[in-house]
Amino acid sequence: MTHHLTAAMTGNILIVDDIPENLRLLTELLSQRGYSVRSVRSGQMALKTLKVKLPDLILLDIKMPEMDGYQVCETLKADAQTQHIPVIFISALDEALDKVRAFQVGGADYITKPFNMEEVVARLENQLTLQRQQQRLEQEIAKRKAAEAVLDQSKTLLASILNSSPDGIAALQAVRHQTTQVITDFRCLVANPVLAQLLGQEQTQLEGLLMGQYLENLASHLLEELIRVANHGSSWETEFCFFGASELVWYQLLAVKLGDGVALTLRNMTLRKQAELALKAANLKLETLAHLDSLTGVANRRRFDEHFIGEWLRLTRTRQPLSLILLDVDYFKLYNDYYGHQQGDDCLVRLAQALKLLVHRSSDLVARYGGEEFAIVLPGTGGKGAIAVAQRIQAAIQALAMPHCQSQVKNTVTVSMGIGSTIPDTATAPKILIQQADMALYQAKQQGRNQYIYEQ
Ligand code: GH3
Ligand code: MG
Ligand code: MG
Repeated sequence: MTHHLTAAMTGNILIVDDIPENLRLLTELLSQRGYSVRSVRSGQMALKTLKVKLPDLILLDIKMPEMDGYQVCETLKADAQTQHIPVIFISALDEALDKVRAFQVGGADYITKPFNMEEVVARLENQLTLQRQQQRLEQEIAKRKAAEAVLDQSKTLLASILNSSPDGIAALQAVRHQTTQVITDFRCLVANPVLAQLLGQEQTQLEGLLMGQYLENLASHLLEELIRVANHGSSWETEFCFFGASELVWYQLLAVKLGDGVALTLRNMTLRKQAELALKAANLKLETLAHLDSLTGVANRRRFDEHFIGEWLRLTRTRQPLSLILLDVDYFKLYNDYYGHQQGDDCLVRLAQALKLLVHRSSDLVARYGGEEFAIVLPGTGGKGAIAVAQRIQAAIQALAMPHCQSQVKNTVTVSMGIGSTIPDTATAPKILIQQADMALYQAKQQGRNQYIYEQ
């Protein structure tokens, strides 16, 4: 007998039979084979004891007083808690076994008395095995359902992240040449709506599509760079722009290796770029303003200082002359007193504009040097050239013919000019030239105004 005691025979069996002799026999035989056996003598008792501990299998006598086996079985099958327990009916050979009814009420099998123990055990084990397999299957299904739910959840989450991202996102799979294994293209695994829109494609159409051509349209050499990323694993970042619907659009692109392919992120940088460009323009304007005289629009004293020193150093190297004209309006205090400060301002503006029209070279500079004093820097121009400019200035101001009835030299606005000219060298201080021009101006004033002086 011992060879029947296998590890599989560990089932909990409930035997229901009204004949004690039957009960004893079955209990003994099954116990010997390693089953743990409980037995009761009526259907009612069976239903009661069942709930205390659910058995793995029930051996159920059909013919019992009060409640027969069919009824007990029906009751069990109607209860969710017990309906899965396999029921094997027991019937005596002389009893007319209604097999159809037995299966209809949910019986799994039947055995007949007198028992052939090998058959009983075989049928019993059969049901227990089925039962165990069923349980394992149910557990497996439950596990899979749970895993599926988690998967569904993360899919939904991922989709909503992709759909709501303001960035264009795509995952691309490398497409390799069959024999050489060289990457020739990329296939789109997934792309979000922003990216699809950027490529002018429907999101659903992108999946599975070869991307090389679209990538090249987006930015030149993009395919080449992505192949490098996929091959070497180093990420790659770039900025590119193109004409959108109505304006220039800027994008920042980041590519990182992902599996045997790349992940792309495209961020719209247009607003930031526009702000940057606006800031640059504003800075440029500020810088320009910082160098301009607000009244006359010509260079201010600060710009003059910078320019004068810069040109001095440059001409020191090239051994070329540098000339400077200092100009001062004659009797301007009287002009202001008579015509008013506002008209004085207007006069300065007109003078400045006239001066600007007279200098042409890009390195020439007209600057407001002080209140009613202007400086004209003439790099690469010697004394003779400077004199010519001074003459042109005098003629132009005469042509302006701005009335000045208080002037002691003429009835129109006139100016006095002092000219300085030198070839800059490292041994000389730049201010020497300014002093030279200033002295000449002083002399022009002394000698009667409305004139220029150039003293070598
Ligand atoms: P001179 O012929 O000797 O140069 O006589 P001047 O009156 O021009 O000389 P002075 O330096 O005594 O006077 C300069 C005047 O220029 C003083 C001021 O009223 C006037 N002035 C200086 N800056 C401005 C300005 O920005 N606007 C106006 N309207 N007048 C100015
Ligand atoms: Mg003055
Ligand atoms: Mg003056």
